[in-house]
Amino acid sequence: MNDEYRTGRMITNNQLPGGKVWLVGAGPGDPGLLTVKAAGLIARADAIVYDHLVGPGIIDQARPDARKVYAGKQASRHSLPQEAINRLLVDLAREGLSVVRLKGGDPFIFGRGGEELETLAASGIPFEVVPGVTAAAGCAAYGGFPLTHREHAQGVTFVTGHLKDNTVDLDWPALARPGHTVVFYMGISAAAEICRQLIAHGLAADTPAAVVRNGTLSSQETLLATLGTLPEAIARSGIKPPALIVVGSVVGLHAKLNWFEKAHP
Ligand code: SAH
Repeated sequence: MNDEYRTGRMITNNQLPGGKVWLVGAGPGDPGLLTVKAAGLIARADAIVYDHLVGPGIIDQARPDARKVYAGKQASRHSLPQEAINRLLVDLAREGLSVVRLKGGDPFIFGRGGEELETLAASGIPFEVVPGVTAAAGCAAYGGFPLTHREHAQGVTFVTGHLKDNTVDLDWPALARPGHTVVFYMGISAAAEICRQLIAHGLAADTPAAVVRNGTLSSQETLLATLGTLPEAIARSGIKPPALIVVGSVVGLHAKLNWFEKAHP
């Protein structure tokens, strides 16, 4: 490994060391939100293993001769199971390649990045992690919802709204607090249950709630509602994943602050 990496300085034209994996966050979609470090690694890697949510145009920045493997997403028939991805990363690194494992958003936020690193560590493969702009940060910025605007929220919580056995097993009393913003990843199919639980645990039915789909891309869509009306609004609009649900009074600031959708109506 060369010193440039050790010190984290900008990557120049150096070749990447082989036999190593970089777990890299690609940001929420807009290729302009890639970090400089991520862009440098993508441009130099021998192999790139990427996910469904990696934004358009980002893979095109790879070397033409780089090996590109689509790992897809769990739900799709064409995706690789997690164990196969773990094995693939180990195999590519053992071939002596420099491998970029590219994930949407940030690799440590609902990204299973930790599981992949555990396999690499167990196999003695060296790795580095490059953070990315997580979907909540991207959607908040491009949706005009300052997640902790101090007149609205003292804190923000990121949770998974993934349905398991038709329920969402979350600490509802902790989430249904006033003066707090909650961002649900993967929550669209559980939206009715999420809204029902938050109201049952004390949040007012008129608490602002929004869905942001394809955040930071020109196809970004925002659905504004309240906890009481969101499930029906989702059903009526037919809005689909990938989307976040944002709950809290900061959602009300969208009308004033949505600079991006005004520019991409
Ligand atoms: N590691 C990613 C999250 C992976 S989980 C990150 O840090 O952002 C996948 C979920 O992320 C999706 O179901 C959706 O809820 C959310 N997501 C990812 N990209 C998004 C985008 N551009 N707009 C809205 N939601 C997004």
